[in-house]
This record gives sequence, structure tokens and C-alpha cells, in this order.
Amino acid sequence: MTSVSDIRKGFLSFFEGRGHEVKPSAPLVPENDPSLLFVNAGMVPFKNIFTGAEKPTSPRATTSQKCVRAGGKHNDLDNVGYTARHHTFFEMLGNFSFGDYFKEEAIKQAWDLVTGDFGLAKDKLLVTVYAEDDEAATLWKKIAGLSDDKIIRIATSDNFWSMGDTGPCGPCSEIFYDHGPDIWGGPPGSPEEDGDRFIEIWNLVFMQFNQLADGTRENLPKPSIDTGMGLERISTILQGVHNNYDIDLFKSLIAAEEDVFSRKAAGDQLASFRVIADHLRSSAFLLADGVMPSNEGRGYVLRRIMRRAMRHAHLLGAEEPKMHLLTPALITEMGEAFPELKRAEALITAQLEQEEARFQRTLGRGLALLDDATGALKEGEALPGETAFKLYDTYGFPLDLTQDVLRGRGLTVDTDGFDTAMAEQRASGKANWKGSGDASTGEIWHELVGRLGPTRFTGYDSTKGSGEV
Ligand code: ATP
Ligand code: MG
Ligand code: MG
Ligand code: MG
Repeated sequence: MTSVSDIRKGFLSFFEGRGHEVKPSAPLVPENDPSLLFVNAGMVPFKNIFTGAEKPTSPRATTSQKCVRAGGKHNDLDNVGYTARHHTFFEMLGNFSFGDYFKEEAIKQAWDLVTGDFGLAKDKLLVTVYAEDDEAATLWKKIAGLSDDKIIRIATSDNFWSMGDTGPCGPCSEIFYDHGPDIWGGPPGSPEEDGDRFIEIWNLVFMQFNQLADGTRENLPKPSIDTGMGLERISTILQGVHNNYDIDLFKSLIAAEEDVFSRKAAGDQLASFRVIADHLRSSAFLLADGVMPSNEGRGYVLRRIMRRAMRHAHLLGAEEPKMHLLTPALITEMGEAFPELKRAEALITAQLEQEEARFQRTLGRGLALLDDATGALKEGEALPGETAFKLYDTYGFPLDLTQDVLRGRGLTVDTDGFDTAMAEQRASGKANWKGSGDASTGEIWHELVGRLGPTRFTGYDSTKGSGEV
């Protein structure tokens, strides 16, 4: 079986052999971009090169970029535990051309890698192109010999990428893998496309236009390429499994959880094991990159992820902090590729333990209150906003945690009521309006944050979760 590490190396060396400079992953906290929550795609660290503001050190690059999608424009937090293919933290493998090669070579390289080195069966693959992009459709036919029904034209923004309201943009083309008829789902563009049968593995973005402020587009003199392939998704295929959480890396993490929680990852509790493994990765990597749990901005996103994991640890019977006991297993799996994890081991362990100890003081009582408050509610009904606010303010339950608990029971939260209660609390000027318990993190962590640089984030709103470019 090919391990995740070997697949990562295989991708990078394939492109290195084709003239790409191999670069390390950038940190998860974007440099010089306070409008973006976390790096959520491989191209983010190269934004200034694509706009022309910076010169590249080489016209071609390849990376395995750490990504977090847990807020803002791309938020996969609610997918974790529900789909076979989403994580909050994942690695995006990418190859980039900065005004060097374009569409034909990008398609050719991608096809060579997936059907050559990776050896995927051609009849399991299908692609999408942007509806107006005849050039891409023709190239797929020529290079891959795909029949017309395997080249699906998509007219929505799913297949048209743009950096923002202005700047580089262009059509994209995605490669999908068919995991077979035993799994529910339909091909891209069909009503069942959200299922897990046809899984998107690789997105090729053809940056060929520059969007102007008046909405018109001009051709870029030197078009560029940005691609992104999910390491965990390609590993799933290459390891002959269907669910991302069944790859070697997650199997090891889940085995470590079985030891820590003294129970088997099976039945109703399997989802909790998976959520914990996922959230452990995002929490540990965010901590390693200098984000600390707090009540605002990026730190609050981290706190929300940590507390969601801790609620699942509670479901697995944890009565004392457990998450931090999983750090060694994570470092065994990923410490070699990401030395920052090893460097931050003590910090990660201490923060996970402190946060869990803090939340355990109120978690059980909050859940009991939630049980009482929902006892009389019927499926489809909403928990009153004031109750959700009380859970937030007194028991440290982030709103999305309450929503996550209720989702399993077919209930929702009156979020308008929650916002109103929050606004009233703020207006009354009470000191603890930020909720979520104790925010003190200790001198040493502040010192570390100081050394690693600020993680100020300016574009995030706690209940609406927008604010990204
Ligand atoms: P999906 O439609 O499945 O949510 P996407 O279109 O949002 O994926 P892109 O933004 O195109 O994903 O990112 C490029 C690649 O990164 C995807 O083709 C996929 O392989 C991977 N990827 C995206 N989101 C996730 C995630 N949450 N977890 C794991 N891999 C992901
Ligand atoms: Mg997505
Ligand atoms: Mg998609
Ligand atoms: Mg995509």
C-alpha cells in the first residue's frame, strides 16, 4: 500500500521532474492578508505573484499546502463526520505556472500523473469544464481520449474561479473519480452530485483573464495555472478505500483514540472518532502556526473547533482531558513532513489540555440544560435564541456547537433570537459579553504569539461567518 507520505512525495517529485521548484507549505495564517481567515488553497501564498505585484523565484512551483476550511467563504466544518471527503484541515497538492505553461500542458501533466504514475483506471475518471470553455473540452478529448459524456460542461461559478471582485480569473476544470454504484451520488451537475460516489480529486484553474472594476474582462498577456488536489482524497483512491477517514494516516489516529478512550471506533460512535481525528489535526496545526484559542477572530475559530472535538470526546465517555494525549500519534504521522508540529509539541499539548479542562467545567451542565430546553421540541423546531445565548455566555458553547448537537436531533436554533440576545448583552455593557469562559492563556503563550507574529483578523463575524475576499 502506498502511504500518504509516499503519495505526497510522489506528487512533488513528479512536478519537480517537470521543472517545478518544490516549496514548503506556507503557514496557515495568511501573511499580509487580514481579510482572509486561514490559508484555504494552495494558491493563496502566491497571490501577489499571480497579480504581478511580486516576481517568482521560478516560473513553475509545486507544493503541498496546509489548508483550513472552517469559516469564511469555504467552511467545511459542518461536513466533517457527514461526508466521506471533507476535512477542516487537509493538504492541497498543487502545481503552479506563473505565466509559463498554460492549459494544454496543465491538462497533459495532470492526466499523465493520475493515469501514469498513480495508475488510476481511465474508465473511473470524468472531468468537468466551464460551459464556455470549448478549448478545454477539446483538449481533454485530444489528450485523454475521453468520450463526450465524460466531459461535463458546468455553467455555474463552480467552474469559474476568481480571486476577488477584480484581478486574475478564469475557467476551471475538475477531475472526478467514480467510487462505484454501491455508493450514493451522481455525476457533477446532476441532482445527486453532493453524494460521495463521484468525488472531485483535482481542480485545474486556468487564469486567463483580468477582471476590471467595471466588470469587463481583458485577456491576461501571460496566462497562468493554479491547481489543487486533495492529498487525502487521492490517497483514499490509491489505498483502495472509499472514505478519507480510512487512509493509513487517519487509521493510526483513530487507533490512538481507541486506546485513549478505551473503546472501539464502530457503530454510532464512529463519527465521533472521525470528527476528533479531523479536529485534532486542525487544532494542532493552527496552534503550531501561532493561533491561540480566544474569544475573537481566528482564535475563536480555533476554540470552536477544539470545543466541538471536546464534545465528541465527552460522547466517548471522557471525564477528564483526553485530546492532548493524541498529540504524539499526530506527530508520528505528520511530524516528519511538518517539523513545526514537533517544535510546537509542548505548546499544542498544553493548550489542548487547558482548553479541555476549562470547557469540562461547564460542558456537562450545558448539555443538561440543552436536554431540558429541547425535551418538548419536535423535529424541525428551533431552540429559542435566548437559550442558545445562555449556553454561549454562561457555559462557553459556541453557537455552532449548539447547532451541531441539535442537528443530530433534527432541531435548529433561532439565530435571529441569538443575535438579539447578544446585541442586548453588548449594549448593557456587561463585561462578560464575549462569553466562552476564561480567556487567560498565560504569559508564555502570549510571548510565543508575540514571537510568531500577530494573528489579527479583521473580516470575520461570529454568527454569519463571512468576510472573505
Ligand atoms: P468539494 O466540491 O468536494 O467541496 P471544492 O470544489 O470545494 O471540493 P477546491 O476548492 O476545488 O475544492 O479545492 C481543490 C481540491 O482540494 C479539491 O478538488 C479536493 O481534492 C480538495 N479539497 C477541497 N476541500 C476539501 C476538504 N474540505 N477536505 C479535503 N479535501 C478537500
Ligand atoms: Mg468545497
Ligand atoms: Mg467542488
Ligand atoms: Mg473544486
